[in-house]
Amino acid sequence: MKTDFDSLKDLHQYYAVHNTCALKTVATQPVYEIEPPSSGILFIGEAPGRNEDQQGRPFVGAAGKFLDELLHTIDLTRDQVYVTNVVKYRPPNNRDPKEDEKKDCRVWLNSELLFVKPKVIVTLGRHAMEKFVPEGKISTDHGQDFTHPTGIPVFAMYHPAAALYNPNLKDTMKEDFKKLKEFLKGLETKTKKNRKKNEAIDEILDM
Ligand code: URA
Repeated sequence: MKTDFDSLKDLHQYYAVHNTCALKTVATQPVYEIEPPSSGILFIGEAPGRNEDQQGRPFVGAAGKFLDELLHTIDLTRDQVYVTNVVKYRPPNNRDPKEDEKKDCRVWLNSELLFVKPKVIVTLGRHAMEKFVPEGKISTDHGQDFTHPTGIPVFAMYHPAAALYNPNLKDTMKEDFKKLKEFLKGLETKTKKNRKKNEAIDEILDM
C-alpha cells in the first residue's frame, strides 16, 4: 500500500488512478475531501449519492445537510471534521455497494486513514460500521463506542439518510450526537493509552 503522500489531494489523485473498483466506469468522478480535520474527528459513510457524484465532495446532498445540522448541535462545523466513504464512487441508482466494490476501495481508504490519523472514527450506518466493528449491529450498537484493534476509538451512528426516510430516527440521532460530545470530552487520555504505533496500524488496517 502506497502511503508516502505530501497531501490528501495527492493521495486521492493517486488512488483515483490506481484502483480496480468497477464503479469507476459508471460514476461521474471519485468523491473525496482534501483537507484533514482540525478536530481529528473522521466521519465515514457508505458511498456517494447523486449530488456527491456531481460535485466530487462527500455528503453535499440532503443527508449531508442533516449531518451539518447534527454537527451544529454539538458545536462543530463541517470544516472542523473530515468526512469520507467506504466506497469512493456512486453505485448506480444509489444501490448498496457490493462486497467486491468495498474490497476494491479498501487500500484507498486504509491509506487515507493512515494519512488523516483520526483521533476518533464515527461510522455512519451499517456498511461503515461493518469495516471497523464487524461484530456490531447498528440497531443495538448505535450511540456507543468501540476500540478498533489499531487502538483507534470508533463511535457508531445511524446513517443520516436513514433518519430522512424514518423521521423517528432524527431524535435518536440527536441523542447519539449528545453521547458523542460527551465521549469526545473524555477522549484525550484514552487515545494516548490505547493507540498503537503507526506501523502496527498499517498492518492491522490491511487485514
Ligand atoms: N451517503 C453517503 O453514505 N455518503 C455520501 O457521501 C452521501 C450520502
